[in-house]
Amino acid sequence: MLVPVNLKIRWFLIYALFGLALSVILTSIVTQAATKQIEEQVGSSLGDVAFQLADKLERGMFERYRDMQVSAQLMRSVTTGEDRLERFRRLLDTLQQSFPAYAWIGLTDADGKVLASTQGLLEGADVSQRPWFIEAQEDYFIGDVHGALLLEQKLNPNGDQPLRFVDVAVPIVSTEGEFIGVLGAHLNWDWATELQISMQRSLQLHEAAEILIVSSENSIILGPANLLEQINPIQLSSTMLSDGHGVMAWSDGNEYLMGYAVAKDYRDYRGPQWQVMVRQPLDIAYQPIRELRIQAAWIGGAVVLVFAVIGWMTAEKISRPLANINQQLEREVQSRTAQLTQSNQRLEQLATTDALTGLGNRRAFFAASSDMCERSKRLDTPLAVVILDLDHFKRVNDTYGHGVGDEVLEAVGELLRATVRQIDIAARTGGEEFSLLLENTDIKGAEQLCDRIRKRMEQLQFNSDKELFTVTMSIGATLWQPDESFDTTLERADKALYQAKESGRNRVVTLG
Ligand code: GH3
Ligand code: MG
Ligand code: MG
Repeated sequence: MLVPVNLKIRWFLIYALFGLALSVILTSIVTQAATKQIEEQVGSSLGDVAFQLADKLERGMFERYRDMQVSAQLMRSVTTGEDRLERFRRLLDTLQQSFPAYAWIGLTDADGKVLASTQGLLEGADVSQRPWFIEAQEDYFIGDVHGALLLEQKLNPNGDQPLRFVDVAVPIVSTEGEFIGVLGAHLNWDWATELQISMQRSLQLHEAAEILIVSSENSIILGPANLLEQINPIQLSSTMLSDGHGVMAWSDGNEYLMGYAVAKDYRDYRGPQWQVMVRQPLDIAYQPIRELRIQAAWIGGAVVLVFAVIGWMTAEKISRPLANINQQLEREVQSRTAQLTQSNQRLEQLATTDALTGLGNRRAFFAASSDMCERSKRLDTPLAVVILDLDHFKRVNDTYGHGVGDEVLEAVGELLRATVRQIDIAARTGGEEFSLLLENTDIKGAEQLCDRIRKRMEQLQFNSDKELFTVTMSIGATLWQPDESFDTTLERADKALYQAKESGRNRVVTLG
């Protein structure tokens, strides 16, 4: 037997749903873990780049500051001599050549007048109002990025991009402790761009990653052209800085995975606190997660399929025994029903059969009578009703015993069965009284049949311990009249029987 299809489909669906739930949960766990991992790994890699760049900037500035300091030391001891300024100028030129980012280096007197400079540029100019000169009278000075109009005109007369500079200046103090001038340098900020480009190589793995440098005045001094000179929208807290990376919403509405670092004071150097930020758009940073999700979807699909197949097979396994049990039960019920029907039929037979003769009993006779009356009426055929009664049967019992009397009754049963047609009814309707219903038989036919029965009875010989003997019977016959009750017909048949008895027994009387 086949397992019912809807049961299979149910198991299939249950397992498929289970597989689906499982893969959805697993996918979300895996992608969550992967998201965290990407944030952590890519974030700290971006943070590393930021830190390295900040460090390079700071070291670079520190080295420039040391250049200035060492040169100032040299210069203060040279206070005399005609060619003094010429020697200074050569020293400054040598210094400039040692580091290409030096745009200009100059030496001033105590009043801020440029005494000597690289290529003699701006010599004689008054720089007393420049921050670097003002600041460096007290102590060394490292300024933040700025433009310089005068120098710009000299160095970059046709340039489209304005030059930007970082100032480093140190005071020159005589051996007696007297302030005698300032040694100052303008560094071309392109130097930072070179550093940034060199760092960019470390970022090759991170698509669309950008490096930004923010000045101590919170303005973007290095980065993509559209962001330059803009105010940095991200305020880095000390906890953020100690993490070194995080996910940030930028003012452009996009989210970025960011690494950041601040140029801290290196040794005894105090420079601008430049912030370095490295950012990657979050949707690009999370690209591997999208790929992972697609992979997970494929794997999830496979899991669902596997579960569904298991469900299908489980349905086979589970429902086959159920189906077998069901089938067995069905068979059992069928057989029980058959048995019951048989028993009912048997009971019915017992209830309508006379045990001694095997003929129908009184009940069966009356049951058959209504059917036969109806058929007779419908087919318009005569129906004969006959009552037969053994003569002086009491004497038979009395003379030979009740057992022999029973044998006689059995013989009558056989006789009647053998004489009437299949369609007729022969029944034992009383102790030694029998009745017949003869279909499609007129009174003449009935009389002939009754007489044949009477004669055969008369000729039957019975055997007792004592002797052979015979028994006769009297018979009354009549026809059922349509529209008359069957009782009326029976009364008439009985009357005919009575007349047969009265007129000497062992005879047939017909009425009607
Ligand atoms: P009649 O010719 O007038 O019919 O006389 P009868 O003796 O046959 O009639 P009665 O009604 O006086 O007696 C019927 C007898 O039939 C009485 C009873 O003992 C006997 N009898 C009835 N049923 C059975 C039976 O099943 N077995 C035997 N052995 N005898 C039965
Ligand atoms: Mg009788
Ligand atoms: Mg009798």
